[in-house]
Formats: sequence, C-alpha cells, structure tokens
Amino acid sequence: AKEQGRNRYHYFTDSMQQQAHYRMRLIQDLRSAVESCAFQLSYQPIVELKSGQVTKAEALIRWHHPQRGQVSPAEFIPVAEDTGLIFAIGNWVFQQAVKQSAQWREQFGAEVQISINKSPVQFRDEGSHFHEWLQTLQQQPDGGICIEITEGLLLDTNMPVSEKLLAYRDAGVQVSLDDFGTGYSSLAYLKKFDIDYLKIDQSFTKNIDSDASNQTLCEAIVVMAHKLGMKVIAEGVETAAQAALLQQINCDYAQGYFYSKPVSAIEFASLYLQPTAI
Ligand code: C2E
Ligand code: CA
Ligand code: CA
Ligand code: CA
Repeated sequence: AKEQGRNRYHYFTDSMQQQAHYRMRLIQDLRSAVESCAFQLSYQPIVELKSGQVTKAEALIRWHHPQRGQVSPAEFIPVAEDTGLIFAIGNWVFQQAVKQSAQWREQFGAEVQISINKSPVQFRDEGSHFHEWLQTLQQQPDGGICIEITEGLLLDTNMPVSEKLLAYRDAGVQVSLDDFGTGYSSLAYLKKFDIDYLKIDQSFTKNIDSDASNQTLCEAIVVMAHKLGMKVIAEGVETAAQAALLQQINCDYAQGYFYSKPVSAIEFASLYLQPTAI
C-alpha cells in the first residue's frame, strides 16, 4: 500500500509539473499572440423572437494557435486574466467591434448591435482605458455597442460598479448580464443597476422543453425581468422545441446553434445583412 501511495505521489507531481509546463507555454504563446494580434472575432446572431429578425450579434474571440489550432476562450481568457494580458486583449476586442459596427453601418445601413464580453478583471482595473473607451463610444451612435458583464462583478463591493455602468450608459452603451442564474444575485438586487438585458444561461435553456420546473423558472425570470424594465435573451438554444417554448413564455431574444454557430464577420454580413438600396 505504501508503494502504491508513493507511486501515486510521483504520478501526481509529474502531472503537476506537466501542467505547470503546459501553462507556461500557453502564457508565452498568448503573449506573442497579443503582440502579433493573432485573434479574430466571430459573430453569433441574436434573434428577436417576435419578428424572427437578427438585430444583435455577440462578438466572441477566436485564437488560432500555429501548432494547436483553435484554442477555446474558455481556456485562454482565464489565463489572460491571471497574467494581465486581458487588458490588451479586451482593448483589441473593443476596437475591433467598434470598427466592425461602423463598417456594417456604412456598408449596409445596418443597425446590428454588437455585444462584447467584458471580463470582471478588466472592468475592475482598466485604469485610464476606461476614459479612452468612453471617448470612443461617445463618437458612436447610441445603442451600437452592448457590454456583457457577469453577476460576480455586481456583487463586488470594492468597486464603483454602478457609477461605471452609468457612465457607459451615458455614452450610449447598453448592458447585458451574462450567464444569469448561475450566480447569486436576485432580480431585486439587479434593480440597483441599470441593466438592459438578462441573458439566461444555457444550462437553463438546455432542458426547458423537458423539465417543467425549469420552464416555470424561466417563465418567472421573464415576467420579473419585464416588470423591472429588462429584456431577456436565452442563450444556448439548440432545438426548434426550445425556441418555440421560449417564444411561448414571452422571452424577447434567443441565441444558439439552432439559429447559427458563431461565424466570421464576412459570413455574418452575407447571411444577415442586405445591401442598402440606392
Ligand atoms: P459566453 O459569453 O457565455 O459565450 C457563449 C458561449 O456559448 C460561446 O462559447 C458560444 O460559442 C457558445 N454557444 C453559443 N450557442 C451555443 C449553443 O447553442 N450550445 C452550446 N453548447 N454553446 C453555444 P465560446 O465562444 O467558446 O466562448 C466561451 C466563453 O469565453 C464565453 O462564454 C465568454 O465567457 C468567454 N469569451 C469569449 N469571447 C470573449 C471575449 O472577447 N472577451 C472575454 N472577456 N471573454 C470572452
Ligand atoms: Ca457572453
Ligand atoms: Ca453566457
Ligand atoms: Ca460566460
């Protein structure tokens, strides 16, 4: 038994070493990716359920690693947050989204709102970038950009979150609360912050058509959100049955593979934007 325990110990340290090594490589590679701007944005349509129209898109970052291929943001964003690389990445995402929004407006006269994910780390420590963002945003038409934040941020009492959100809103930005339902904030608590959209997490959407209590929960969220002046976006919609149910409970918007996976900007334009008639 002792022998076994020792072996296990060895195995454990080896794998920890491997993990540490792997992580260091990832940090190095991420740093050079930032330097060479090796990222792209994909856009996933957000569909207005009542009209069936695509009025919004969520921008999702993509990193094509020269050896490893696509690395998921779920893997590298936390590393970027730990190393401070998130500031450069977040600024790139923001600039890119603003550029894309302007280009689509010019080319198509399109009023597609682009949503970007803003890491709580970035929100907390962005320093002077905050004012740069506000300046950039003030030059954009209102409602062109939406910022997605998560519940954890609102519960952080060390930060003037509501003041910052107000400043963004004054600059014409809308605010979405991402992954709603996975954290601890109550709807009543959200009222303190001016939030435009609640995004129901995909873990709730997943079995909305098969789990009655889940359906009741989503319905209650929609009713309450509407009472509080917010609109609701359901994430991770994968089937027609889920979409139908969401429409039935008065959910405002839906996003997910049922409509489309995230696509390139070019693909997005060819699928959802029409050239303006001259
Ligand atoms: P998120 O903000 O919750 O984004 C939704 C994720 O769900 C995306 O994964 C999207 O591709 C995926 N998804 C969309 N529809 C479906 C569906 O029907 N079924 C399933 N199973 N998944 C669906 P992705 O692009 O891999 O991003 C993962 C997470 O990484 C995001 O979760 C977000 O937290 C983070 N992230 C992505 N891009 C950025 C970014 O530019 N900045 C920051 N700070 N975080 C980002
Ligand atoms: Ca999001
Ligand atoms: Ca989400
Ligand atoms: Ca998320």
